[in-house]
Amino acid sequence: MTEANTQPEVNIGLVGHVDHGKTTLVQALSGSWTDQHSEEMKRGISIRLGYADATFRRCPGVDEPECYTVDEECEDGSESDPIRTVSFVDAPGHETLMATMLSGASIMDGAVLVVSATEDVPQAQTEEHLMALDLIGIENIVIAQNKVDLVGRDRAVDNYEQIQEFVEGTVAEDAPIVPVSAQQEVNLDLLIDAIESEIPTPDRDPGESARMYAARSFDINRPGATAEDLKGGVVGGSLVSGELSVGDGLEIRPGREVDEEGQTEWRPLETTVRSLQAGNRDVETAHPGGLLGVGTGLDPSLTKGDALAGQVAGEPGTLPPTREEFEMEVDLLDRVVGKEDDESGESDIEEISTGEPLMLTVGTATTVGAVTSARDGECEVSLKRPVCAEEGAQIAINRRVGARWRLIGVGTLA
Ligand code: GDP
Ligand code: MG
Repeated sequence: MTEANTQPEVNIGLVGHVDHGKTTLVQALSGSWTDQHSEEMKRGISIRLGYADATFRRCPGVDEPECYTVDEECEDGSESDPIRTVSFVDAPGHETLMATMLSGASIMDGAVLVVSATEDVPQAQTEEHLMALDLIGIENIVIAQNKVDLVGRDRAVDNYEQIQEFVEGTVAEDAPIVPVSAQQEVNLDLLIDAIESEIPTPDRDPGESARMYAARSFDINRPGATAEDLKGGVVGGSLVSGELSVGDGLEIRPGREVDEEGQTEWRPLETTVRSLQAGNRDVETAHPGGLLGVGTGLDPSLTKGDALAGQVAGEPGTLPPTREEFEMEVDLLDRVVGKEDDESGESDIEEISTGEPLMLTVGTATTVGAVTSARDGECEVSLKRPVCAEEGAQIAINRRVGARWRLIGVGTLA
């Protein structure tokens, strides 16, 4: 298999209501990768963000869509050819997913909306996720009508029509609806066919400066490793533009906090790329799509325990500024996301007020900010922990409602 077809090149978000089968579907499509995954875990670069890579394959001499598979062996015993590797983003929690989607981390190039045929349409999160796709302008969508094995034909047709009606006038209006059973692995070929035609790999300019959002960072050394065996710190995340090659220089912002004579300040880190792992294998050059592990020359104590999670890495001298405070334009949602009917508290969202704490997701960074001034549709925040972000960056805004942080809106860095 060539490296070109096994490095993931496009990120596809799995969205939809809880229990409708997102994780089962990802497993059905990426099952053949579980071995490599455990190998990866052994190497200590395991990245558990809910990314799973799937290589779509084609059986030679078979017509579309029956030719599509994720198995290496075809029904007639011949070997299938890899066409494209995609990375599915199946974020663990509903609100994490929403915040990541809305934070402009550019982590999804398209989405599969999973809708169970066993329930009325729409369920709460089906509606919220579609709203989020609409808000951030993700237009390449395939709808998987899942669990068709559990319903009779009439119910399936009914449900199909409900889905059609529900997406009318939304960004998913023209999205194909594919009846599947993730658990029984029915119609996966049709689903792959739809993903191949609806969610193409975006055109990217390899000449752009490399920009990566760090989601995790590690010290991969065993306790007691000798100085000469010591490996540099590892940063895991998602490359969103440009390319990164072994030997490239790398700047990471905000970097680390230094304390000098009672004054603290954040200083960017500079290092070089020593190794790259993409699609569960070592590569010389990585491009956007999927998760990337970057071995650096940094002192591993700097990367230990996700210390650099939420930071931005890229070509030295090209990164946006580090901000300890910023001003943003604010778009509040119509109502609180993820709130169940039986929970107490207001569903309506009140204006942001001066002095209130907000939890902000900027790229992959989550930080608490205090509102220092608030006007109609605008506010200024002072952050506990600075972020590296450029003008125009999208920010997911969460407010404490009852005992939890709830998504209340989207900000744009002014
Ligand atoms: P998620 O919350 O959307 O990730 O849903 P899961 O993938 O965890 O699935 C929820 C439950 O539905 C699990 O018990 C699955 O085994 C089951 N399930 C998922 N897909 C199917 C399907 O196509 N048919 C049937 N019968 N059960 C399914
Ligand atoms: Mg799940």
